[in-house]
Amino acid sequence: MTDSFSNLSLAPTLARAVAEMGYESMTPIQAQAIPVVLTGQDVMGAAQTGTGKTAAFSLPLLQRLLKHENPSTSPARHPVRALVLLPTRELADQVAQQIKLYAKYTQLRSAVVFGGMDMKPQTLELKRGVEVLVATPGRLLDHIEAKNAVLNQVEYVVLDEADRMLDIGFLPDLQRILSYLPKQRTTLLFSATFSPEIKRLANSYLQNPITIEVARPNETASTVEQRFYAAQDDDKRRVIRKVLTDRGIKQAFIFVNSKLGCGRLARSLEREGLRTAALHGDKSQDERLKALEAFKQGEVDLLVCTDVAARGLDIKDVPAVFNFDVPFNAEDYVHRIGRTGRAGASGLAVTLVSPSDTRLVSDIEKLIKKKLEVETLQLESERPVGPVPEKWGSRAEDRPRARAFEGRRREDHDPRDVLDSPRERRGGFRPAPITRDPFFEKPYEPSAADASPSWEASVPKTARSSISANIKPKRKVAALFKSGE
Ligand code: AMP
Repeated sequence: MTDSFSNLSLAPTLARAVAEMGYESMTPIQAQAIPVVLTGQDVMGAAQTGTGKTAAFSLPLLQRLLKHENPSTSPARHPVRALVLLPTRELADQVAQQIKLYAKYTQLRSAVVFGGMDMKPQTLELKRGVEVLVATPGRLLDHIEAKNAVLNQVEYVVLDEADRMLDIGFLPDLQRILSYLPKQRTTLLFSATFSPEIKRLANSYLQNPITIEVARPNETASTVEQRFYAAQDDDKRRVIRKVLTDRGIKQAFIFVNSKLGCGRLARSLEREGLRTAALHGDKSQDERLKALEAFKQGEVDLLVCTDVAARGLDIKDVPAVFNFDVPFNAEDYVHRIGRTGRAGASGLAVTLVSPSDTRLVSDIEKLIKKKLEVETLQLESERPVGPVPEKWGSRAEDRPRARAFEGRRREDHDPRDVLDSPRERRGGFRPAPITRDPFFEKPYEPSAADASPSWEASVPKTARSSISANIKPKRKVAALFKSGE
């Protein structure tokens, strides 16, 4: 927090809404971006969800649109002036809710359109006319084709979570949408990282953008304790259990790389008596909300999720995050562990590394510019320790294996594992209700204090049956790197 909103000379209608939100001062991204957006310049902003970036672009945008404010009921007097594009329906919904709050004392209208919902109510809203349209790319194209959305008077376009939109494969959709917009406009691009693809996108569609970075991109929060434990796939669940018990952690997210793996792991943990829910792209909106509600209520202790499914959920400050699989993209590592240890609270991020993950771990090292060390964790075991590489893989040897393994897992990683898929792959979404759950906006809060997590209450059935009461040899699971300072 650096600056007061009163320095901005926002219109009284906007200032009142901000005051009602209870914001005392601007966040760093707001302090930097708002004055620039107010001048109408293009912006390339490196900021993640949770930094206050929605207000950073929407407040100045609304301020500049106030000149179009009018009480007319004629749709022609309310053309789309600002377009905000997001990768997932949850994010679109969250951003639209925030914009509605900021604009509530103005006569500017806003609406949100995303897939998985009936088009009719969205169409009615669009036909009445809206100044600010928040959308996911695929559904917006549907509305453009149906002539429900006309974009030739757009003055501002925001590409939010641009890196994720590219990851999901929205680039062709974005290109098409941008082709419908007037050339003379302001373009704002926000991304957690500035990858070469993002820079290419910016070069094509932004004009002399001002770059704003609130924290070094790819920087991991210093409050997160990062541990890397070596574990063969079969040992990973026990490592998780041990860490949870040893650290007295009550709830955690577990990240996996595929939908298939997500369901499989959740079922295994469930069988072992742990209260677990799975979140992935094949789950309906309703199922996802139920899983989240159960997590919030403390009925579920572990939420196993894929990157894309979790990306749409603004849940922060979870006590621990486990990477059951090392993510394919190092950027996802940053996103994943960003779920824990925010706002001064300390968090734990544990990554389980199998021998074929060497290259992926070194990708993370490069990205976060930190030497990582994989550690050994003592596990009590019924069977002897498997061979552990003396040094965690000489690169030359490991690389081909890592690739082969990775290839196998990528096949398993269904490209439809998204919340709102790119156009070419869409179809088959179940209708989903609009989410108005304040949980999405709130940091993680522990559930009822006396509820003990399932790993304290139960011993895994498999372990109970297979470990001899007399022989419990200590076993070393190779820990490969240790987190640097
Ligand atoms: P965002 O990064 O835009 O998703 O914002 C994350 C959360 O921060 C939202 O719940 C906002 O309401 C909140 N927020 C945004 N700006 C501020 C501010 N200046 N002070 C306090 N909270 C804020």
